[in-house]
Amino acid sequence: MDTDLFNPELVPRGSKRRSGALRQTVAPRPNLPLFFSTVVAGGLGMGLVLGLPIVDGTLSELHLRGGLAMFIGSTTGMAGTYLALLMVVLASRAPILERVLGQVGVIHWHKRLAPWPIVLISAHAVFLTLAYAEAAKKGVLGEAGVIINTFPSMVTATIALGIMVGIGVISLRQLRERIPRESWWLLHLLMYAALILAFAHELALGPSFVGHPLAREFWTIAWLLAAALVLVYRVGYPTYRSYRHRLSVVAVKAESAGVVSVILEGRHLERLPISGGQFLEWRFLTPRMWWQAHPFTVSALPQPPYIRLTAKGVGNFSQELAHLKVGTKVAIEGPYGSFTASAQRRNEVLLIAGGIGVTAVRSVLEDLPIKSRPAVVLRASREEDLVLSDEIEKLVRHRKGTLHRLIGGRNEVSLDTIMTLVPDIAQRDVYVCGPEGFVREASEMARRAGVADEAIHQEAYRI
Ligand SMILES: Cc1cc2nc3c(=O)[nH]c(=O)nc-3n(C[C@H](O)[C@H](O)[C@H](O)COP(=O)(O)OP(=O)(O)OC[C@H]3O[C@@H](n4cnc5c(N)ncnc54)[C@H](O)[C@@H]3O)c2cc1C
Repeated sequence: MDTDLFNPELVPRGSKRRSGALRQTVAPRPNLPLFFSTVVAGGLGMGLVLGLPIVDGTLSELHLRGGLAMFIGSTTGMAGTYLALLMVVLASRAPILERVLGQVGVIHWHKRLAPWPIVLISAHAVFLTLAYAEAAKKGVLGEAGVIINTFPSMVTATIALGIMVGIGVISLRQLRERIPRESWWLLHLLMYAALILAFAHELALGPSFVGHPLAREFWTIAWLLAAALVLVYRVGYPTYRSYRHRLSVVAVKAESAGVVSVILEGRHLERLPISGGQFLEWRFLTPRMWWQAHPFTVSALPQPPYIRLTAKGVGNFSQELAHLKVGTKVAIEGPYGSFTASAQRRNEVLLIAGGIGVTAVRSVLEDLPIKSRPAVVLRASREEDLVLSDEIEKLVRHRKGTLHRLIGGRNEVSLDTIMTLVPDIAQRDVYVCGPEGFVREASEMARRAGVADEAIHQEAYRI
């Protein structure tokens, strides 16, 4: 097969693909009013959820034996479960969330909130056990046994708590770094099982729900909606999209030592709503790889019936890509990401790629109009590590831009050089893509050069 078909000079100039005529617009900018409305709605939800148990008795029972522990146990339980609900909504990656928070924001908030449901729900279990033990004047362990064995749905709730605490433990940084990412990811999915197991006890015992059918219905509907979002956007839609495009590998091309491009063929790719700079979660259906999906940015806009990713082999999955057989079937999830031309706020852009971050820069460039005069900086330790640079050179030339190659070790080349190479940097949108450390350093350089935060767009590959 002709692996040169993504060469910018060979792509027909007036092709529908190139003009974007067949593509739906995707990756809109995060929307500030929508963001603030969502924060207010989230805060009101939390207020309501906390207000219910407070107004409904536990506050007036504070003076009773075990009343304080009961109050703390009830409120931490409701707050923790509400945050778990928000986590499930965030995990759905519903497109509206990207509009509100941006893709980076969705992941950021999912990570930031993650410890809190576990901490609060554990506190809930401890304080309620203490409360009941104090009220019954019994030992804590004995009372815990009574609660588990006699209260409705408490056996399943205890299993759920065990799973949550287990997930909390394996997520501690010291342990997480020792567990393969995929194993951790599969284990953390057990959180869904825990939330399902805990649900019945919430309705049966929660002070906000006992005797309050409306609150029960509201709570049930909220959880059903969150579950539906996950099923639709994480299962249904990817399955539909994978079936619709029926991708399979047609070629694997070595780009440099350790970097390969995988070219896939599929159906109706002109209908795939993807922008340059966006990524898909790719699942290669081989006996060794089918159970894990990894994110890779498209390294060129699709040229139907072909689409391409370019990957650096850094671990088991990415190294295995070099050995893919022609005909391997591929399932996809996405596209995701807001590192796209539509995030641009100024008239001109500076695109900075560190190492394999070149993939996103390559495909964003393709989405920029002719004569948009982009400045592009490719950073690599050695000349031979520069991949796709010929294609980038042609794309930059078509757009009347400038290309700079910054080659050399960290001690030899400072990112501050970019301020001299692109003196009008402060008037441009700055796109930075590459490994996490590189993205951080390049963004700091841009800030020092006077680029406003909202004009800095980042995509960190965490390699
Ligand atoms: C949005 C996005 C787009 C990406 N696009 C590209 C691309 O176009 N080309 C390319 O070569 N690489 C890209 N990556 C990085 C690529 O996903 C990882 O290198 C790959 O998943 C590593 O898997 P592994 O099993 O080979 O290595 P592992 O042994 O699992 O990991 C090696 C390193 O990669 C990190 N990593 C592993 N999996 C992920 C993951 N799913 N998300 C984030 N970091 C991970 C680990 O923290 C570790 O530092 C992208 C990453 C992200 C987040």
